[in-house]
Amino acid sequence: MSTDVSVCVYCASGPVPQHYLDLAAEVGQKIAKRGWTLVSGGGKVSMMGEIARAVRADGGRTIGVIPRALVDREVGDTDSDELLVVDTMRERKGLMDAHANAFLTLPGGIGTCEELFEIWTARYLGMHSKPVVLLDPDGHFQGLLDWLHGMVRTGFASQSSLDVLTVTADVDEALDALVA
Ligand code: AMP
Repeated sequence: MSTDVSVCVYCASGPVPQHYLDLAAEVGQKIAKRGWTLVSGGGKVSMMGEIARAVRADGGRTIGVIPRALVDREVGDTDSDELLVVDTMRERKGLMDAHANAFLTLPGGIGTCEELFEIWTARYLGMHSKPVVLLDPDGHFQGLLDWLHGMVRTGFASQSSLDVLTVTADVDEALDALVA
């Protein structure tokens, strides 16, 4: 079992149905069981909060990175083993990247998509070689994926750019892909 894995998880920060919170908790539990560290946006709310709590509940370590301006809105995760408070969103993403050696996206909104696209395009452009995985158990991202495959057909995106993103509906498969 690899225990030197730090996985950065991007996921929803807004109100979502209970089964997405359960998904975040399951992923958190499994990250802790594998002995990995969680790197997150450092909020206590929604899936972001749920996953961090689940990791710690099973003895795992969490690092949160949150912009000062969002400490109240996303409720800074003061229980985190490390909570890094930064000035800008760009610093947040930079520090999250720097602390992680793999990236996992769970269902989320535009913030989650923004984070996924940045780290995925950087991987495609060869700026890093860390695994980028999208876990989509219920088709939350299907419309986006259909659109992206359409862009391959029209030439706006290459098949190879899509190939560097691992997409799966299965939690264990997603976690395995983070260390593949
Ligand atoms: P959402 O998917 O919209 O619920 O947002 C998920 C997380 O992404 C939240 O913690 C947002 O604060 C964060 N986020 C949104 N935009 C950015 C950005 N440009 N850089 C870093 N984090 C962001």
